Amino acid sequence: MNLDIPYHLENYIGGNLVAPLSGKFMDNINPATGEVVGKIPESGAKDIEVAVLAAQKAFAAWSTTAVEQRFKILNRIAELIDENLDVLALAETNDNGKPLWLAKQVDIPRASANFRFFATGIMHFATESHNMEDKAVNYTLRQPIGIVGCISPWNLPLYLFTWKIAPALAAGNCVIAKPSEVTPVTAYLLSKICKEAGLPDGVLNIIHGTGPEAGESIVTHPAIKAISFTGSTRAGERIASLAAPKFKKLSLELGGKNPTIIFADCNWEKVFFETIRSSFGNQGQICLCGSRILIEESVYEKFKDVFVGLIKNLKVGDPLEEETKQGAIVSKMQFDKVLNCIETAKQEGGKILCGGTAIKPEGRCANGYFIQPTIIEGLGPECKTNQEEIFGPVVTLQSFKTEEEALQLANATSYGLAATIWTQDITRANKMAAKVESGIVWINCWLLRDLRTPFGGVKNSGVGREGGWEALRFFTEAKNVCIQL
Ligand code: NAD
Repeated sequence: MNLDIPYHLENYIGGNLVAPLSGKFMDNINPATGEVVGKIPESGAKDIEVAVLAAQKAFAAWSTTAVEQRFKILNRIAELIDENLDVLALAETNDNGKPLWLAKQVDIPRASANFRFFATGIMHFATESHNMEDKAVNYTLRQPIGIVGCISPWNLPLYLFTWKIAPALAAGNCVIAKPSEVTPVTAYLLSKICKEAGLPDGVLNIIHGTGPEAGESIVTHPAIKAISFTGSTRAGERIASLAAPKFKKLSLELGGKNPTIIFADCNWEKVFFETIRSSFGNQGQICLCGSRILIEESVYEKFKDVFVGLIKNLKVGDPLEEETKQGAIVSKMQFDKVLNCIETAKQEGGKILCGGTAIKPEGRCANGYFIQPTIIEGLGPECKTNQEEIFGPVVTLQSFKTEEEALQLANATSYGLAATIWTQDITRANKMAAKVESGIVWINCWLLRDLRTPFGGVKNSGVGREGGWEALRFFTEAKNVCIQL
């Protein structure tokens, strides 16, 4: 299979790689070097229309394909992702700026795991029946919805793209999918992999372009009956306002401002290792990163001193180098946004304990978008820095005296995606987990994921859940059939 990356990427429609009908392309920039490395189709409503026609043509056959056959094709996609790990990981790093070792260890293996998980899952998916004693029996059919739209962000490009596409396809839908215009390359390569794996033409269509153009054309197209979106709360709000009046099924996985709660009785060896990851993994650009670290007052200074010391030594630089811990910020826009947020934190009275500035590595990355991991203290829960998602390598430290105060601080934002609790008192941990306002809670760990578990947020972090049966339920319509006995 040829996984060369052409200078001009193409859309994947009806099994063919095609240029956008507008003939227009935008720049694709490697954030580690600042160089334009390719061109991305600027697709719009007309491309979506052609993709919908291709999907409509494919739907009757795909939706009635035996689940074992669907399993075989999706499992083959997983195998081909594994076989091409190195090419895909390098493409992800060049697009996104993340360290290559991270793309190899996390992003690409998870993309194949997503396909494998839902390929096998559909073989075991079952529905309920409800018996009304001697009167009647009901059974539930779960049928594919039809054509569904999947829209994903840039932070974990292939990982999150496949997290939506795999269950949608497994459930028998045809898909119109749009990756982020900031990181399109692995989605482009996935189109070639799907073709090679024998996915029938038109079952998956991958359209490149911006949110307002290509994205909104997917959201508003009358034949696309469900939208699964992962991205910012701002875009989620816009998408909900467009899709809700058309009564589309909606799954929204949005932003976060997650608390990491550290009690004095935590496991001190583990807490540092994991909190470095949960604060700065992927340059802090994971929706699940803990950007507000809440520390019990009696150990605040102790935690701070060790943590700041460790973070000052994290190597920031060329993502292709093995010893790099922090790569580039994904784009110039995001780079400017994060630096502005650090300025705001200073104006709000925050004290920068480390980082706080951009850095210029020597050599090929001299024009890349790099920011030192930044730790800030001295800010209360109400300020912008502790309220708004920054989505970069920036965390704040706050102290608390009691469990109640820890909870108040943890819940003091409009978001509710994930929370991490560090304590060896398991009763306290369980009590806190029940009361913290978030869809996901980790106790003495972070980002330990079982793909069967429900994944999603409360409050402004989203609507609905992904993962396991939740995803297969989202991508099917339940129909009750009642038979009188
Ligand atoms: P974004 O909202 O700018 O874009 C996400 C995707 O939506 C992109 O493909 C974009 O082109 C598209 N889009 C943007 N506006 C649109 C519109 N009006 N209509 C249709 N599509 C539109 O987000 P981003 O900057 O790419 O990603 C970062 C955000 O994603 C952060 O807020 C982060 O917390 C969030 N995120 C959430 C999760 C989660 O599971 N909850 C996971 C990863 C990232």
